[in-house]
Amino acid sequence: MKEFELIRQIQQATSVCYSAGFEHGVKLGIGDDAAVLEVPAGQHLVAATDTLNAGTHFPLDTSPFDIAYKSLAVNLSDLAAMGATPRWALLSLSLPGAEREWVRSFAEGFVSLAQVHNVTLVGGDTTSGAMSISITALGFVEPGRQLTRSGAKPGDLVVVSGTIGGAAFALEKLLAGKPSEERYLLDRPIPRLSLGQALSGYASACIDISDGLLADLGHVLKASGCGARLNIEELPHTEELAGLEDESRWRYQLTGGDDYELLFTLPHGHSEQLAVWSQQLGIKLSVIGELEKNQGIRCFREDGTGYSPQGTGFEHFRQKR
Ligand code: ADP
Ligand code: MG
Repeated sequence: MKEFELIRQIQQATSVCYSAGFEHGVKLGIGDDAAVLEVPAGQHLVAATDTLNAGTHFPLDTSPFDIAYKSLAVNLSDLAAMGATPRWALLSLSLPGAEREWVRSFAEGFVSLAQVHNVTLVGGDTTSGAMSISITALGFVEPGRQLTRSGAKPGDLVVVSGTIGGAAFALEKLLAGKPSEERYLLDRPIPRLSLGQALSGYASACIDISDGLLADLGHVLKASGCGARLNIEELPHTEELAGLEDESRWRYQLTGGDDYELLFTLPHGHSEQLAVWSQQLGIKLSVIGELEKNQGIRCFREDGTGYSPQGTGFEHFRQKR
């Protein structure tokens, strides 16, 4: 297939997302040099971009459907962490070859998630090279309603959605050649958009967990200028993780990446909201700790004894020794 055929195939396969056309504010989409988009009056544009490289961000045996699904999901997760509502996406594809069947399955994976969240593909770029997928997600937030990393205060609760550590454990099993019943956690993370939007106006800070709990909580603490104590026995885990020894499980939960759950801080006064959101949105929410003035993260067991985790999370440019 030639480049223009590939683009046309993607355009046709994703055109279902256009069904609402005008309401989606797309004045010009795929086919011109750039898209022209109408941001609704009284809203601010929120933009996020994330790249997934084959072998680094997804195992080489991942299906094209899941590669697309995950590429979009991680970008929508960034919008979720901001409390934003997604609307458009741009897709930059680098592929070693242009195979019709591969593109068909990829587009299907993209559309399956895009439709759920009303996201329209409005453009992109296509090149040949090592497999790499870069998506830019665009959405809206009402002025001043965005969630940030910097508003957390000592005394606020530390809360996490869903379960954590499951994706990292599934990946490790996979790399060791063992099957995992929870591989779907790795391939199809759930962007917590409804939760992010609900948190707007309540949470003092929010981030999505992509690189590991300690690393991402660390970003919030640094931006907010405070520290935290965590009760590691409150960390929510998956069924597969339940079978591990405590310390091994905690390692996946504290330092494993790829969960794409939301980690947020909540002033005590709003704590009664947790049960309401959990019930309304059908998302498990766990209070795992509290913020403190003291910088840094301190981990404790239920009985109050301290625990020192090793490592902090995923880092692309590790310092060579
Ligand atoms: P240009 O050379 O002007 O950058 P391209 O030939 O790269 O234009 O792209 C033509 C049109 O197709 C543009 O509207 C672009 O946004 C769109 N496009 C290219 N690749 C993709 C892709 N992978 N997904 C969606 N749209 C794409
Ligand atoms: Mg181009």
